[in-house]
Amino acid sequence: MVMRLDKLLSNYGIGTRKEVKAYIRKGFVEVNGKVIKKDDSKVDYQKDIIIFDGEVVEYRPYVYLMLNKPQGYVSATKDNVHPTVIDLIIGYENYDLFPVGRLDIDTEGLLLITNDGDFSHKLMAPSRNHSKLYWAEIEGVMDEKDIDSFKKGIVLDTGYCCKSANLKVIEVDDNCCEVEIEIFEGKFHQVKKMVESCGKHVTFLKRLKIKNLLLDRSLELGDFRELTDKELVDLM
Ligand code: URA
Repeated sequence: MVMRLDKLLSNYGIGTRKEVKAYIRKGFVEVNGKVIKKDDSKVDYQKDIIIFDGEVVEYRPYVYLMLNKPQGYVSATKDNVHPTVIDLIIGYENYDLFPVGRLDIDTEGLLLITNDGDFSHKLMAPSRNHSKLYWAEIEGVMDEKDIDSFKKGIVLDTGYCCKSANLKVIEVDDNCCEVEIEIFEGKFHQVKKMVESCGKHVTFLKRLKIKNLLLDRSLELGDFRELTDKELVDLM
């Protein structure tokens, strides 16, 4: 697969296109044993040996990213009205990335982005029952009765009986509260609907954790980073 050298190095997370062009001009990059100073040189990333700053740059077919999703972005690869979460992922343009599952447009927090369809299918498979932990601000005060209903399995308006879930009240303030909700499935608007069925309303929702993967608190809204090898293995 042939690609521009600056684009390839940027996709590998070595820097922005501008930074990478500067590295190339300064002679940091070797291809097949020769220093290359032209940023638009074409390389075959499956065949050529590319060295950046003394280290071999490995060809990777798959990437796995964690994004701290902000509100206002849809969990899709294309949308005619709103920006998508993929628009936030700068430097990986040739990877055909997509979000693993979805968060609502007004939900923030942990969203995985990859180009590995098998990984995504396995992680999302209902049979796996992976837990997802959310932090929510609620209009109305959730009480022991609600905790119990979550445990037993909320029955939605549609008649669907949700799997047992965990509700923990963190703080109560007048007629509002903050809660943590852990669910083991991922139906459309699930958390909002479960809360609604208790007669309360979600005013803010953020995902904190998927299975054993915690949202990296050092990521600002809209920022992303690659998963570490350990994080990836633990998710599989
Ligand atoms: N449940 C919801 O209601 N919305 C989300 O975005 C995720 C879970």
